[in-house]
Amino acid sequence: MRRAGRVVREVLELVRSHVKPGATTLDLERVAEKRIAELGARPAFKGYHGFPCVLCTSVNSEVVHGIPSPKRVLKEGDIVSVDCGAIIDGFFGDAAITVPVGERIHPDTARLLRVTEASLQSAIAAVKPGATLGDIGAAVQGVVEAEGFSVVRDFVGHGIGSHMHEDPQVPNFGEAGRGMKLRPGMVIAIEPMVNAGKPDVRVLKDGWTAVTDDGSMSAHFEHTVAVTATGATVLTE
Ligand code: MG
Ligand code: MG
Repeated sequence: MRRAGRVVREVLELVRSHVKPGATTLDLERVAEKRIAELGARPAFKGYHGFPCVLCTSVNSEVVHGIPSPKRVLKEGDIVSVDCGAIIDGFFGDAAITVPVGERIHPDTARLLRVTEASLQSAIAAVKPGATLGDIGAAVQGVVEAEGFSVVRDFVGHGIGSHMHEDPQVPNFGEAGRGMKLRPGMVIAIEPMVNAGKPDVRVLKDGWTAVTDDGSMSAHFEHTVAVTATGATVLTE
């Protein structure tokens, strides 16, 4: 899983370097697809329940599961969430970043990105044997809501291993001390999805793309995290 995680990280960093005004989300897909193959991995998303691509690319008010398209041209001030999964020897890695397009991103949008990433780090810091899923959700929610943003409820993180989505579900909200206890050897994908406005989302007619109901910006960061004997190790770092 560490090897799969390294592939995902390398692909995401390469894609990040290709995010610029004028690039299309399909350009990012092409870069990722080529690199995944070069690294001897298989893409985890392509064909998953019929999803057509190796990346999810979700721009601005798109929350998750956006489909790369030659028609989606990135412009100055946009943000794009890039989510990638890879398989090595039957084991999965899954991670996401949200990247600003160009240099002139709105300060509120920049803050949304910072807070969402900070909420993921706060959740990772809570991971250790004996901690609970509620501790993780509460950590994300605390950071996000203190900044006046909202946590998406309709999508959650997940266990991951020889399948991309395994039990348990890992919500980005909850109550400290509640829920399943973490044990060494468990691996989970923690993935806060944070809206600048209200938490409500809806899915577009393409059957995949989730967008904020109020049209507000949304950010998404994700890591695959293993519970160790003493704490956590991030497999997609
Ligand atoms: Mg993901
Ligand atoms: Mg995931």
